[in-house]
Amino acid sequence: MTGQRKLHIKSYGCQMNAYDSHRMADILASQGYAETALPEDADLIILNTCHIRAKAAEKVYSELGRVRKLKERAEQDGRRMLIGVAGCVAQAEGEEILRRAPAVDLVFGPQNYHRLPDLVEKAERQSGVIDTEFPVEDKFDMLPAPSPAAVKARGVSAFVTVQEGCDKFCTFCVVPYTRGAETSRPVAKIIAEARQLADAGVREITLIGQNVNAYHGDGLDGRPSTLGRLLHALAATPGVKRLRYTTSHPCDVDDSLVAAHRELPSLTPYLHLPAQSGSDRVLAAMNRRHTRADYLGVIERMRRARPDIAFSSDFIVGFPGESAADFRATLALIDEVGYAGAFSFKYSPRPGTPAADMQAQVDDEIKSERLAELQDLIERHQRRFNAACRGRAFEVLLEKPGRRPGQLVGRSPYLQPVQVDASADRIGEIVTVMIAEIGSNSLFGNLPASTGVSPDLDRTPAAMGA
Ligand code: SAM
Ligand code: SF4
Repeated sequence: MTGQRKLHIKSYGCQMNAYDSHRMADILASQGYAETALPEDADLIILNTCHIRAKAAEKVYSELGRVRKLKERAEQDGRRMLIGVAGCVAQAEGEEILRRAPAVDLVFGPQNYHRLPDLVEKAERQSGVIDTEFPVEDKFDMLPAPSPAAVKARGVSAFVTVQEGCDKFCTFCVVPYTRGAETSRPVAKIIAEARQLADAGVREITLIGQNVNAYHGDGLDGRPSTLGRLLHALAATPGVKRLRYTTSHPCDVDDSLVAAHRELPSLTPYLHLPAQSGSDRVLAAMNRRHTRADYLGVIERMRRARPDIAFSSDFIVGFPGESAADFRATLALIDEVGYAGAFSFKYSPRPGTPAADMQAQVDDEIKSERLAELQDLIERHQRRFNAACRGRAFEVLLEKPGRRPGQLVGRSPYLQPVQVDASADRIGEIVTVMIAEIGSNSLFGNLPASTGVSPDLDRTPAAMGA
C-alpha cells in the first residue's frame, strides 16, 4: 500500500483504553495513517476492547459482524481493508477471536501496540497475526510523541497513563490477567509528556492507572516516588492548571496523597474511590484487603485534609454469597458517605477468576432488583449533591462548544458538565462560574463580570452538601 492510508479506532471500556487508542493513532500516524471517523472509509479498523464484564466482551463479537460486512464491501470495490482486535479481549481470548471471527487479520494485547507497524506489515502478507506476549521492552519507550495538531484535536483535557497492571487479584476481576503485573513509569518521563501536552494547549491532566495510587515509579532523585509526590512535581509544570487521577484503591492511600489534596490547589477535590461493597463478609470474599471501617477511615482522612472533597465509587451487586443483609450494608455505606456519583454493576462471572467458581452464585433476577434499588439510592444522593451546587462559584475549565450557539461546556471540579454563555476563543480557560440552574445532566452557570480564578470559593463541606 502507498500514499495516505486511513485508520478507524473504536474504543471500549475504561480511560486506559481511550489513552491507548490515542497512542495507537500516534504510532500509526508515523506510518502514514490518518484517522477517519468513518469505518467504511478505513484501510485499517481497530477495535480496542474491554473484557471486564461478559457484556463488554460480547459487544466486540457483534461489532465484528458489522465490520466484516464493511470489509466484504471494500473487497468488492477492489480495496484491501485490515481488521485488528486490541485490548483486554484480545489478550484474554487470543486465537479464539480468529476462530469465531475469521475476517480478523491481527490480534494484539494492551502491552504490544508499540509493535503495530510491524504487526500491520505482517498482516498485509499473512492471515491471522497474533501478539499477546508480555514483552520485555517498555512500550512507552517505543511510542512517538503525538503531534501538536493531534493533541489540539483531542481537546484541552488529556489522560496520561502513569501506572499499568494490578497485583491485587480481587476475586471477581480479570485485570491482573489481561493487563499483567503492576508497573509504574518514571517521574521524568511523565513530566516530559505533561510538558508536551501543555505546550500544545492541554490545561488539565488526568493521571490514569488500573491502580493509580499504587504508583511507585522512579523519582527524579532515583528513589521510588509515590503518587502524592508525582502530583506535587506535576503541579509545578508550567501550563498544567488542573490535575486529577483515577482509579484508586482504598489500601494504597498514603500520607503523601492526603498531603497532595491538602496542599495542591490545582488538584481537584474529587476522588473516585471504589468500595465495591459495604459488607465486611463480601469484601473479604472479594479479597479487597480492606474492611468497611478501613474505607471510612480513608474518607475521613481525606475530608480532614480537604473539607470540600467529594467522592464517587464503583459497586458490584450480587457477588457470590451476597445476602440481603450484605446488600443492606452496601446501601448503608452509600448513605454514610453521601457520594456525588457512582458506577454500579451486576456481578459478572469472568472465566479464570476465583469468584466465577464460587458456590452460591446469586440469581440474575435478584441481581437486577438489587442493582435497581442501589442505582435509585445513588441517583438520590447525586441529585442532592447537584442541588447543593446552586448559587455556588466553581472553577470551570471551558472545554468545547456547548448545547446552544454562543455556549461553551466545561467541567466543574466535581466532573459535572457546566454550560456557560461564552465565546469560542475562551476554550482552555479556567473561569469562575456562578451556578444558576441544575439540569438532569448538566449545571448551568454565568460568568461574573470579571473572569479569572476566584481566590475565595466556598470550600466548606456544608457548602457542598456533604
Ligand atoms: N482498579 C479499580 C478498583 O480497584 O476498583 C477498578 C478496576 S475495573 C476496570 C472497574 C470496575 O469494574 C470495578 O471497580 C468493578 O466495580 C467493576 N468490575 C470488575 N470486575 C467485575 C465483574 N466481574 N463483574 C462486575 N463488575 C466488575
Ligand atoms: Fe481489578 Fe481493581 Fe481489584 Fe486490581 S484492584 S484486581 S484492577 S478491581
